[in-house]
Amino acid sequence: MARRCIFCTIARGEEPKTTLLHEDERFVAFRDRSPAAAHHYLIIPKEHMGNPATLTNKDIPLVESLAEVGNKVLQEQGGNMEDKRLGFHWPPFNSIDHLHLHVLSPDSQMGFLSRLVYRPAFWFVTIDKLLERLQAVPGDQQPSPPSSTSQQQSETKAEGEQS
Ligand SMILES: [Zn+2]
Ligand SMILES: [Zn+2]
Repeated sequence: MARRCIFCTIARGEEPKTTLLHEDERFVAFRDRSPAAAHHYLIIPKEHMGNPATLTNKDIPLVESLAEVGNKVLQEQGGNMEDKRLGFHWPPFNSIDHLHLHVLSPDSQMGFLSRLVYRPAFWFVTIDKLLERLQAVPGDQQPSPPSSTSQQQSETKAEGEQS
């Protein structure tokens, strides 16, 4: 599935039309194909990861790293660091299901439609809002195992009513 993902192809440097503005061990950055602002970049993890709704608090460092790379790229490209927007499309409003951070600048000069598409709302979540949200999504829970094959019948402890 991930093999056909366009962002995975870009991350491997195998998409000839896409110039990587940044590349390190974990991330790549490139220009959005349909820019909504003078500066519009996408930062993605090289490893295929799903949309932001699949993230948990374990992913907070990753999201912070995405923002770090985004800010670095924006600065290098001469974007306005005081007038920017960083965020994610929320499913089902994300067109590509490979985690990607949008970095836009200048925020104040975006056209009406672009403003709508990238407006902090239920279809677009800013980096701060996402980090806030992730604090409350535990990622260290063991997924409950599927009904085990062992026939051991464990009596559930009777929950006595507390008086
Ligand atoms: Zn991918
Ligand atoms: Zn998007």
